[in-house]
Amino acid sequence: MRDPLLVCLALGGLVFPACDPDGHVDFFQTVTPAPSFPGTAGDAAVYQNLFAYTPDSKCAPQVPRQLDSKTEVRIFVGNGVAASEIGRYAGGLQRYYDFYGVTMFTRYDPIAVPLDHAIVLNDAVIADRMREVAGVDPACLSSLYPTVACEQAYGAAMLYNVKQFLHAYAEPDRNVINLVLLKRVASLNPGAETGLLNWGIAGLGLSEALVNSAGGSDVSISLADTLDETGFSPTVFIAVNLTDFLLREPDIVVAHEFGHAYGLPHLKPGDLDYGTNLMDPSASECDLSLRTDQLTTIEQATAAYGDLLDTSLYDGPELLSFTDRAPEILEIVRARVAARALATGGGQ
Ligand SMILES: [Zn+2]
Repeated sequence: MRDPLLVCLALGGLVFPACDPDGHVDFFQTVTPAPSFPGTAGDAAVYQNLFAYTPDSKCAPQVPRQLDSKTEVRIFVGNGVAASEIGRYAGGLQRYYDFYGVTMFTRYDPIAVPLDHAIVLNDAVIADRMREVAGVDPACLSSLYPTVACEQAYGAAMLYNVKQFLHAYAEPDRNVINLVLLKRVASLNPGAETGLLNWGIAGLGLSEALVNSAGGSDVSISLADTLDETGFSPTVFIAVNLTDFLLREPDIVVAHEFGHAYGLPHLKPGDLDYGTNLMDPSASECDLSLRTDQLTTIEQATAAYGDLLDTSLYDGPELLSFTDRAPEILEIVRARVAARALATGGGQ
């Protein structure tokens, strides 16, 4: 057992208090840019060892076509993630995309970010924050069509750390993809009924195109409105603990989230290659492949990020990505926050 905390989360709220003996989770964490940021670009060759890997022929995908593309990456490392993880994750990313002729590079040292997690799913904590910091009654979330101020107060709490990171390091768009290795994507101490959501989130891949396309769906709360950020570099948060717990090597998780960062949507049942494709909603086998048309999208994205996605392709829960589960998760946590606010007499 690599991480007892994860097992506690998987079992949900019943056993949760035993997993958090001191009861303290630092839910909202401030990020200020390091003095070395943005910095002067170094020689990519100096950093190429970050992307070094040992080939694994057992995990070779189908390769219908090879690109000749490059993607610049900036690497960030959260609290408690060992430096040795950088090479495993960046190397895993390169091991996958090398099959397709996409070369990753960076020209900067990795930067430490003081984050334990990216998002908070604890309804009580979110409700308090909306009330105390934004001055918004969280019962506003019980409306079928919450006001923009209500949605933004909700996002400012749930996505506080994400927004802190984007402000510090991703805005304006610098035409790189940020790879942020955190111990977890969702914080410890989820609400009593959101423990299973917490457990399932291994990655969060944000690109503006992806967020906008999710925002175009007809759910009453959209990720675009709730996140309330524009003009940012595509940013991938990876839950290192969960990924290492589930998989022998992290390649598929980080490659899948980069697929979203490039603008690739999920496949859906019935699609060509569904079940053997990297962009399957619950991708986890190590030899999942990319199709010719997906490679064309990546080829275009490596020059200019963002093909708007078809919102009809967002069809439900997945293991791997918060982004694609956002409508579902936003609705579930919203309902919990609203129910709590109403029950404690805060509303109406
Ligand atoms: Zn996904």
